[in-house]
Amino acid sequence: MLRPVARSWKQNIRQFSFRPISSTSRSHVKIVEVGPRDGLQNEKSIIPTEVKVELIDKLGTTGLKVIESGSFVSPKWVPQMAGTADVLLQIKRNPGVRYPVLVPNVKGLDTLVDLLERHPPPAGSSEPPLTDEIAVFIAASESFSKANLNCSIGESIDRLVPVVRLARFKGLRVRGYVSTVITCPYEGPIAPEKVRDVAKALHQLGCYEISLGDTVGTGTPITVENMLNAVTSVVPVEKLAAHMHDTYGMGVVNSLIAVKSGIRTVDSSVAGLGGCPYSPGATGNVATEDIVHALHGAGYTTGVDLEGLAEIGGWISSQLGRPNSSRVGQALLAKKTREAAAKAKEAQAGEETIQARL
Ligand SMILES: [Zn+2]
Repeated sequence: MLRPVARSWKQNIRQFSFRPISSTSRSHVKIVEVGPRDGLQNEKSIIPTEVKVELIDKLGTTGLKVIESGSFVSPKWVPQMAGTADVLLQIKRNPGVRYPVLVPNVKGLDTLVDLLERHPPPAGSSEPPLTDEIAVFIAASESFSKANLNCSIGESIDRLVPVVRLARFKGLRVRGYVSTVITCPYEGPIAPEKVRDVAKALHQLGCYEISLGDTVGTGTPITVENMLNAVTSVVPVEKLAAHMHDTYGMGVVNSLIAVKSGIRTVDSSVAGLGGCPYSPGATGNVATEDIVHALHGAGYTTGVDLEGLAEIGGWISSQLGRPNSSRVGQALLAKKTREAAAKAKEAQAGEETIQARL
């Protein structure tokens, strides 16, 4: 059953509060960093494996607990992700961090399982495996599913059954993505009931978490809230994550709407990296720096070092020769540059005074 959603703006504003509930766990929001996968997969020039590895290693020191590190998708579809096996072999795995990878089908899972079996942690060591989690995806839009997966939504769910079963048999946790939860680039607005049904199917398949993706980034507070009302009527809110793209500049506010609805997991990309190869014009995910700043400002904890993250955002943007899409990242880096210049000026003035006295 859908809860009534038609409310006036005045009512919405009155009821709008980002204040966290007092209990500690409810005031913590888990950030899932998707930059190295969702972000980089849309970059046109091929990024060297060393850069991907360095990005993930840097991110692993910021307090982030989940860093999506690549995908085992056909290199014909997404050439950028061809080196994911090398990335997993080369990163310095922080034992407190998970490094999930996207696996679209049984073929991709076979490749991953083979890699895991060829490279187990040394016997008797406490080293974690290369990864212990995969992500699968389906669309809430029939046209997007046809264009992207070459099958209907129903068929795509059927195809995931053996993937999820085998992954869980191999001890891997499975996260599910639903894409195009607000709008489809081919057929326009998506009914919240469609998203509800698809999210329910992923939940029933055994996904421990279902990430709701506004792939095109057209969502607004009202459309996101309507969609979430539909989904939370069938899937427990603790099992949901928000995955907002920032095409129309709504990524932060839409993620906060999700947090207000009780969701405590938010996907984001450092420096706002990303887009979607199948959704022309869609820009990156909400920037991790922006959402972390907004959450901290609203009294939530993320465990993430914002200044460290901003440095990484600046670094990866210059590596890729692209502008830094995080407003917060830009502001923090500009402040740091100003402060360093002021300090240098002060030191120079001090030196000149000493020389004048000599
Ligand atoms: Zn995405």
